[in-house]
Amino acid sequence: MCDDKCADYLYQVKKGSTPFCKHYAAAIAQLIYEKEISPKDKINYMEGQVLEELLEVVNQRKRDEGEEITHRDIEGDLEKLNTDFLDIARQNRTVARQKYHDEPENVFEDLVNRAFLLLDFDTIPQRSGHGWDIILIAGRAVHPYFIVVECKTAAEGTYSYLVKKQDYLFTLKNYCIDLFKDKLIGTYKGYAKYMLLIAPDFPGEIEECCKRFKDITGFQLSFLPVPVLLKLVNRYRKMPILNHDWIESFFQKERIINEKDVEEIFKEAERQIDSLSERLCTRLRERFSQFSQISGDAAFIKLDMNVVSSVLEEIISEMSELVIPERKGIVDYINIEHDCYEIWERILKKLGREFVNILKETSFSQVKNTELKEDLLKMLNIK
Ligand SMILES: [Zn+2]
Repeated sequence: MCDDKCADYLYQVKKGSTPFCKHYAAAIAQLIYEKEISPKDKINYMEGQVLEELLEVVNQRKRDEGEEITHRDIEGDLEKLNTDFLDIARQNRTVARQKYHDEPENVFEDLVNRAFLLLDFDTIPQRSGHGWDIILIAGRAVHPYFIVVECKTAAEGTYSYLVKKQDYLFTLKNYCIDLFKDKLIGTYKGYAKYMLLIAPDFPGEIEECCKRFKDITGFQLSFLPVPVLLKLVNRYRKMPILNHDWIESFFQKERIINEKDVEEIFKEAERQIDSLSERLCTRLRERFSQFSQISGDAAFIKLDMNVVSSVLEEIISEMSELVIPERKGIVDYINIEHDCYEIWERILKKLGREFVNILKETSFSQVKNTELKEDLLKMLNIK
């Protein structure tokens, strides 16, 4: 409709300054919105950064209209990270320009942000060149915390500027304190605890900065090499059993974080899940043994509904890492973290098995007649 007609076509496209008039993007956005075409189709001139910004516009409209936005592209992001993350971190300009239409420094920040989204952190990326790059929000921890992230690409593969120029520590201090913590008020100030530097790799000497940084800022500084972050993300997507509480120790290392730390954090999560489910199973069994004694009939375990809800309440209050209680007026609510589905699955499986075991044991041990049988025996006068 626009060819040789709309002003934008006549003045911009014909002159060759852009390949399409401004209505093209709007038309494509409308078609994606109407689900006439999929962002996964090949669309002329719409790819990489351009396509993403267009999708953001479409999603914003859906949000404005209260529609559910399309689910996160977890697979796509994971693939991007696995193929390009390290190349981009090492300033591969060709990959950055051709695939992402931007400078490697910007693409790197974007990929780091995606990596933490895949780890189920809330993030605030800041695209301006000034100050910190990303704030990570661990809002679902029992004690929430914030992490200030600074991303560093390094063409030679190792980021060593901080070792050569220790004064740079004061710039980082500025990012954490003046440009972040000082702007927070009340209890939020106490949440600002960690700083993370992310680069393709770091020299060992860099670890000497951590203590000094803690002294001048109160922040715990750690270094996260890209391959370690990649391992963490891949491991987590395969087995999402970390929550904001259990992953916190990862950011308290005050040294270069390594692959062993990733293994350790998952082992710790397994231990936490085991001990939590053990506590819950014990609680369930205790309650059942208390109440099955007063149940009248042999074929059933009779439970008062008030008892059932009190058992449920006890179990829920035991799960403080997964369920966040909230009181509005006189009504009590619980908030369940949907990202923790894998943890729920494991715990509920164990709890379910325990419940079945309790039934089995009672079933095998029961010798009493049922009430129905007793009644019949009486009526038929059989002893
Ligand atoms: Zn046009």
